[in-house]
Amino acid sequence: IIQANNLQKHFDGGEIKALDGVTASIRKGEVVVVIGPSGSGKSTFLRCLNLLELPTGGQVLFEGVDITAKSADINLHRQKMGMVFQHFNLFPHMTILKNMTLAPVKLLKKSQADAESQALKLLERVGLADRAGAYPSQLSGGQKQRIAIVRALCMDPEVMLFDEPTSALDPEMVGEVLEVMKELAKEGMTMVVVTHEMGFAREVADRVIFMADGKIVEEGSPEKIFTAPEQGRTKEFLAKVL
Ligand code: ATP
Ligand code: MG
Repeated sequence: IIQANNLQKHFDGGEIKALDGVTASIRKGEVVVVIGPSGSGKSTFLRCLNLLELPTGGQVLFEGVDITAKSADINLHRQKMGMVFQHFNLFPHMTILKNMTLAPVKLLKKSQADAESQALKLLERVGLADRAGAYPSQLSGGQKQRIAIVRALCMDPEVMLFDEPTSALDPEMVGEVLEVMKELAKEGMTMVVVTHEMGFAREVADRVIFMADGKIVEEGSPEKIFTAPEQGRTKEFLAKVL
């Protein structure tokens, strides 16, 4: 569903190579977990997939369409990719329900009633139906992140991208967010997840990609990456985090 070809993202006139030739394909229904040391280009990779960051070289094909081409309708394609960040990014001055219905009504032209009933169903699924009228500041970090996930789902995305969705949470709230992500994976959502949660990667990932220095160093099944990594860089990294 997504094909990245030789993606490059250089900053400061090429001095910093945040992405240095990344080629990867994400198949429909697949859960791909991206791991790697700080500064290895994981966030830049995700942001290039939905063009939050414009690659300085290479291509991204989404459902077969080159979305990096000048003629591409970036907004249309971006709508089909939900994104969840480390810091929730909910609108603070809007209720949860408004946060969830704004984009579907404005961009997908859903009726307010349809958008609300969908939002309420999703809130129910994550156990937060009673918080529809609350404001983000009235929720815990874990609740906010679960809202951020279901808000993205309100756009009926084809793919969900997660950038360290649990890194900013207190430890006791990590589980509830990972649980929602597991459910989503079970339902067949295509997901690309940057995370340091190795347990989640082992349990849920179909494939693990290890990045370092803007490149994919190694990729494979969780069994392979976690129990029989081939590259020195991968072994070194795993020795630190496992
Ligand atoms: P972390 O685990 O800390 O989130 P990461 O793997 O997500 O790291 P990126 O944020 O993708 O790494 O950054 C990759 C490299 O690109 C780093 O060297 C970073 O300093 C650099 N970089 C990222 N964004 C910019 C920017 N806007 N301007 C200049 N350099 C940048
Ligand atoms: Mg990052």
